[in-house]
Amino acid sequence: MESLKSDMNNIEKTPLVLLHPVQRIGVDMARWRKSGGGEALAIAAKDLGAVREEVKKADLRGLGGSGFPVWRKWEMALPEQPKPDKYLVVNGNEDEPGTFKDRLLLEETPHQVIEGAVIAALAIGANRVVFYTNPDMKRSLASMRMAIEQWQASDLLALASGALGKPLVIELCPGSGHYIGGEETAAMEWIEGRFPFPRGKPPYPAQAGVYGNPTVINNVETMAHISHIVKRGGDWFKSLGKNSGSGTKLYSLSGDVLHPGVFELPMGTSLRELIYVHGGGLLSGKPLKAVFTGGPSSNMLTPVDLDVALDFESVRARGSSLGTGAMIVVSEGTGIVKRVAEYMRFFAHSSCGQCNSCKVGTATMSRLLDRIDTGEGTAADLTTLKNLCTMLPGSGRCHLVNGAVLLLDSAFRHFHDEFKQALR
Ligand code: SF4
Repeated sequence: MESLKSDMNNIEKTPLVLLHPVQRIGVDMARWRKSGGGEALAIAAKDLGAVREEVKKADLRGLGGSGFPVWRKWEMALPEQPKPDKYLVVNGNEDEPGTFKDRLLLEETPHQVIEGAVIAALAIGANRVVFYTNPDMKRSLASMRMAIEQWQASDLLALASGALGKPLVIELCPGSGHYIGGEETAAMEWIEGRFPFPRGKPPYPAQAGVYGNPTVINNVETMAHISHIVKRGGDWFKSLGKNSGSGTKLYSLSGDVLHPGVFELPMGTSLRELIYVHGGGLLSGKPLKAVFTGGPSSNMLTPVDLDVALDFESVRARGSSLGTGAMIVVSEGTGIVKRVAEYMRFFAHSSCGQCNSCKVGTATMSRLLDRIDTGEGTAADLTTLKNLCTMLPGSGRCHLVNGAVLLLDSAFRHFHDEFKQALR
């Protein structure tokens, strides 16, 4: 568990909230309650309007990659609808290369996540909470299974049901193991028992989600923050951030760094601090070449961006995206063409095939990139790739094809010479 060791090294330096040792006491519910677990739910149950207000003040965002304000998502699902159920789906599919933060929360501190989700369900009036997790993460699945069983037998669930005015049901739904299954409408398809093909929008999940019921989908890390906001207030949470960021964020740092791992830091910490202070710098002291942010599906950052604050707005202002907070570091000496070809293979493999443009487009880009990477590519291949970068965006039902194009477009923008040199 290198990731645990590396963030433990930084306890003195960082405002640990989610990953504080007190929070991370595993699945033992009695120990968790002794350390203050369950108190936030008792506070929240008395005034659900105040929960929504504090979450709004906290400026809590969707930490699965969207950065969408949580209170606005909740607000869309608030109006009463003539449906039997309302769902809160907690998305822990986490299958993008370089992202490995949610599994840590589910493994190490499942009750913190469940309490946050139960409070969120009460705040929006949802009577069904579904934890949708990655089936390949066996340890987090086992932790969640045990923790949910303890909740089902506990007085906390009775307290929540009392505040809601009807029984609150908590379920665990292991996902399908497909990357695309993390897309919110795909997750709903899988929960209903079908292959996780993303749905077209509208209707949006808040209008017609799981089995046609109003549904809110929030990420695991987002839920883990809720109890702390309820106990200590939205202003306190907001003040933990730096620059324009609010609260803390789990950054997954990987690639060519000395200490890869999950780091809980103020939202808005600079990329330089993350890599050189917490990550210990690059392997063998090599210079930085690029960083794939939020997984590989966005514009990469380069050494000129080292001082960017890692919050949603600041990274967006650089033409990239914070995404899940995953930072894959690439050092000088690494071939970008090979790396991009690898990621494109991932996208082509992950396409669900519903949209022809995505199915054929990602497969074609992958084939051409492999050809260029092995020295068999021609100038015509490069031109075809550039044409695809202008034709494909916006042509798919979900973001996958756009992400694939962003990756390639960004590689052309920063490292075009490497593609030219790799041609036959
Ligand atoms: Fe499937 Fe690709 Fe269409 Fe998304 S864009 S729905 S992954 S075919």
